[in-house]
Amino acid sequence: MTQARLRVYILSLFLIATGIAVSTFSAFSLAPLTFQVMGVYWLFSLLYYHLRINSRRGSTSVEYGINYNVSLILFTGPFGLYLFEAVYRLIGYLYKKKTKTDEPGEGVQTFYNVGSFVIQGTAAYYVYQWLIPWFEGNLVAFWVLLFLLVTVTAVVSDLFLLGVFSLLGDIRTRADVAAFLKERSILDMAKTAFSNGLLLLFLEQRNWTAIIGLFVLNYLVSQSYLVKAQSAQDKHERNKYEHMAYTDFLTGLHNRAYMELKMKELEKTKEAIGIVVADIDKFKSINDTYNHSVGDRVIQHFAAALKAKAGTDDILARSGGEEFTMFLRGRSFESCLALVEELRQQIESDAVEAEFQDQTSRIPYTASFGLYFFTEQEEVPIEKGYIYADQLLLESKQLGRNRITVSPGQQHESSLSTS
Ligand code: GH3
Ligand code: MG
Ligand code: MG
Repeated sequence: MTQARLRVYILSLFLIATGIAVSTFSAFSLAPLTFQVMGVYWLFSLLYYHLRINSRRGSTSVEYGINYNVSLILFTGPFGLYLFEAVYRLIGYLYKKKTKTDEPGEGVQTFYNVGSFVIQGTAAYYVYQWLIPWFEGNLVAFWVLLFLLVTVTAVVSDLFLLGVFSLLGDIRTRADVAAFLKERSILDMAKTAFSNGLLLLFLEQRNWTAIIGLFVLNYLVSQSYLVKAQSAQDKHERNKYEHMAYTDFLTGLHNRAYMELKMKELEKTKEAIGIVVADIDKFKSINDTYNHSVGDRVIQHFAAALKAKAGTDDILARSGGEEFTMFLRGRSFESCLALVEELRQQIESDAVEAEFQDQTSRIPYTASFGLYFFTEQEEVPIEKGYIYADQLLLESKQLGRNRITVSPGQQHESSLSTS
């Protein structure tokens, strides 16, 4: 039903455009100049074909691109534009069919484009005929008039598109309409007005060099813009993949690959670093007592606690299943130890709430830590520092868990380590 109404709407636009073309045929000049001009316009429009930007809106795609119709219709009249559009759109349609890049409804869209563009152009054409006596001879007035003509085509085009969208149900409310109209850019309209104004002046002077020069210039500018937009898009994708490659999905923290990357960077800075390896105690029994997803909740809880403690300069990563590593920077040994001790106590006193067998269960857990303090004068590579911290963690486990073991030679008051 909707599709049928849409077809009637589009066919009506096309028939009106055909009516306009036929009734203005007498004003169409059959001189060779007309066809030379149209030939150049065809050539460049087809060269520009891949530079058009299609923006999807609901079920339809709307085409945005610089449009030279205003200068063409002012020079050749409505029949000339009709002929131009019909041939151009037909070639575009056949090209897409041949390369199999056509979308469903492409044929109907071709009729829509011819109809809509010819009617828009005709509106601008008559506004021009009507106003030119007042604007003639004044260069500023000429540019104002061209901007006005481009505005007329934009308004008519938007009205027709709104017709399509409301028939398809893609636009329902006043806010939808406002959002759609806001997509028009004054800058784009100025670009169209300026290009068409120059083309018109050059056509009147029969200045072919300038005409072709302008088309080539516009082509190069659009092409380079497209390349830039494309590379910005590529960069965005690359960043996204890089982010994914270094992120641990369960906790949202960095993963081990990121940690290894950062360790290489830290190696060069020769700064003091507190390396902390933290591991949940008897985690296997949490998995076994409850289930794997409750286990996941505990890991997430632990990760959040670590993250809350880590500063912006510190590096924190999930280095294994329920094991995390922190590189604490710009701190003394004492302040590293105090931070880890706070963390240990907080974990011990703060149980996790998780859904288990349709109930919220409170699951207490503890964690053990190894802290290896890496001084500025340290001779060993940072990877070794990490291995030492891991060995210190193992000692904490062997000494009964829920405790911190620090590098030999560093002070660690026993009252801090008892639990
Ligand atoms: P310890 O106190 O000595 O650290 O004992 P533990 O049980 O915590 O250590 P162990 O290394 O024996 O067990 C760790 C378990 O963690 C084994 C593995 O199945 C589980 N695990 C690893 N990754 C995940 C995960 O992403 N989610 C869940 N739920 N479990 C995990
Ligand atoms: Mg463990
Ligand atoms: Mg472990």
